[in-house]
Amino acid sequence: MKFAVISKGDAISNECMYKIRTYLTDFRLTYDEDEPDIVISVGGDGTLLYAFHRYRSRLEQTAFVGVHTGHLGFYADWVPDEIEKLVIAIAKTPYQIVEYPLLEVTIRYVRGGREAKYLALNECTVKSVSGTLVMDVEIRGDLFETFRGDGLCISTPSGSTAYNKALGGAILHPSLEAIQVAEMASINNRVFRTIGSPLILPAHHTCMLKPVNDVDFQITIDHLSLLHKDVKSIQCRVADEKIRFARFRPFPFWKRVRESFIQ
Ligand code: NAP
Repeated sequence: MKFAVISKGDAISNECMYKIRTYLTDFRLTYDEDEPDIVISVGGDGTLLYAFHRYRSRLEQTAFVGVHTGHLGFYADWVPDEIEKLVIAIAKTPYQIVEYPLLEVTIRYVRGGREAKYLALNECTVKSVSGTLVMDVEIRGDLFETFRGDGLCISTPSGSTAYNKALGGAILHPSLEAIQVAEMASINNRVFRTIGSPLILPAHHTCMLKPVNDVDFQITIDHLSLLHKDVKSIQCRVADEKIRFARFRPFPFWKRVRESFIQ
């Protein structure tokens, strides 16, 4: 089996990374940064987001596992003290694969029929470059509303505990194949009206955002933020691809939610 280790870059994470690399090599696993079967991310959820995008082109062949060197993570459940246990589990036991849904974002541009496709593990956010974001929101090909406000956040179920939660979105169990559209400070008065509640769309419903005036937007895909010019539409739907996590023991989602936000 081939493996790679990605570290957050701080001293503790780097030390764990070297340990994991040495132990797994001792177990005769091959270190291969380009084509790993398993990627061990050491740091936090942000590190796993980075690892996901690094190996985005080989999601079908690669499984992820997370070690957290800070507070409990949503994508990382192992702690540095358990590294020996984790290494033995990776080397000796056939692991279970758990798949989580992803968000597919297709940005189409005004000129030349050009389009760009992205996959997000947490979410995509859309904001205007200056002033209020004004966009038509279409669901399944029908105009649903004209949104006016700071921005829109379209998240995956596993990303629902991140930015989406701060916007008052619901927490979705990652076994649900859905995406969630949450508003950022919408303008609601006698003239302008939006739904005001987060929307949860099933896998066969597509959400399309279309510019009303401005065609330049600041768009984030997880931790990556880019200015997109001359945008014609932004299409969001549940992706065909999934992220695969290697599970060596139960990691109940609601327990993680409680431990992260309540106790
Ligand atoms: P960051 O600003 O350094 O960290 C954002 C925080 O979000 C970190 O504490 C990170 O955990 C946590 N996080 C990431 N994914 C999560 C998830 N699925 N559930 C719960 N918490 C999660 O940025 P970053 O590390 O590059 O992460 C980018 C993410 O930041 C974006 O995808 C977005 O979700 C989030 N974000 C949140 C807000 C907000 O809540 N108002 C605003 C902007 C962006 P770790 O410390 O374990 O890495």
